[in-house]
Amino acid sequence: MSAEPRDVPAAGTAPRSVDEHVTRILDSITALPPYEQPLLETVGLPLCEVVRSPLALPRFENSAMDGYAVRRADVATASQSEPVHLPVVGESAAGQSAPYGLPPGTTMRIMTGAPMPSGADSVVPVEWTDGGTGSVRISRAPDPGQHVRHAGEDVAEGDLLLEEGTLIGPREVGLLAGVGRSQVLARPRPRVVIMSTGNELRGPGEQLGFDSIYDANSYLLAAAVRAAGAIPYRVGVVGDDPQVFADALSDQLVRADVVVTSGGVSKGAYDVVKDVLSRLGTVEFCEVAMQPGKPQGFGRVGEDQTPILTLPGNPVSTYVSFEVFVVPALRRLTGRVPYRRPLTPATLTADVSSIPGRAQYLRGRFEEDGDGATVTPVGGAGSHLLYGLAHSNALVVLGEDVTAVAAGETVSVLALDRDF
Ligand code: AMP
Ligand code: MG
Repeated sequence: MSAEPRDVPAAGTAPRSVDEHVTRILDSITALPPYEQPLLETVGLPLCEVVRSPLALPRFENSAMDGYAVRRADVATASQSEPVHLPVVGESAAGQSAPYGLPPGTTMRIMTGAPMPSGADSVVPVEWTDGGTGSVRISRAPDPGQHVRHAGEDVAEGDLLLEEGTLIGPREVGLLAGVGRSQVLARPRPRVVIMSTGNELRGPGEQLGFDSIYDANSYLLAAAVRAAGAIPYRVGVVGDDPQVFADALSDQLVRADVVVTSGGVSKGAYDVVKDVLSRLGTVEFCEVAMQPGKPQGFGRVGEDQTPILTLPGNPVSTYVSFEVFVVPALRRLTGRVPYRRPLTPATLTADVSSIPGRAQYLRGRFEEDGDGATVTPVGGAGSHLLYGLAHSNALVVLGEDVTAVAAGETVSVLALDRDF
């Protein structure tokens, strides 16, 4: 705890690139250990095992239709003008059946999903009959084997069902449940403790003073954590008092896989996050060559060496930093690849500009139609502009050396509402 503050880069040192900062974060985070989780808890997580089928699907030969199980030879000649009549000797219904046998020259009523009686090879749909229960008139012959589902035609026992790494969604859950799995191996969703710092911040419903504002960031970050498939623990506003912040942080660590803070990392007089964490010597503060989001911090805190990412306080800076740095960290923890959102090309609909030496993340409205994708800048450049952020669905990413791009040119975009 007595280590000297580390504030990187030292005065005069060039800021670090976005890529380098992402790489450092990813390199120092390892995936959480997987465990057997209830099936529904794993939706949105990658599977951490190879799943083979413990049984065949269908498990037994059964009917695909409501109708009559027959030996096809008995009804081969059936037609509208010369129907075949067969005695109905029983009934096989789904979940209310038994290992029946079908004597030649007879039929059994059968319902969809019910086991075929042995000896029967085809099913006559009820629509081709008079629906009789004692005897039935059949006016059309099925093809041999028609309307029968065969054991193992979908999956054979021992078949590879899902590869390790498959993202679990509703269809995968259906297959897993269909072979009787109630649990699968997956990494837990990261628990993310979120702290907003700032003496000026008030919660919704609280009285605003002359110089106070509502806390947007802890809510924005909690929503972003949830959207990233992790579990947010939103701590109320923490003031800019070093002891209060240090105590709040140490109280929260017990439930955190990651801590994310907002505010208090610039060069002001009350930059509490930087003040407190610099002293630990395990959190590194640096400048990243980006706009918004220049002041960043990353490191570890507490007994368990919990990763912490300290984001700048302006809401747009916080959001962009979350997207660029926290999302990859969270995906790394659950083993979800790719870690970083892929860039998508789009045609700019208006001129944009940027300052040299910093990657620019401009808010934009991304649209796709038959002719391709376009992106329209939204709002101004200020990182306090919540309205423009809310009305955007993309970030236009301009490289460090780019200073202007004209309408009609292709740019790289982070399409924020897209799954990846
Ligand atoms: P800071 O990084 O603490 O210097 O804050 C930078 C700017 O962001 C200041 O104008 C703060 O008032 C504002 N800000 C910080 N935290 C929040 C928050 N949770 N919600 C809304 N604005 C904030
Ligand atoms: Mg502040």
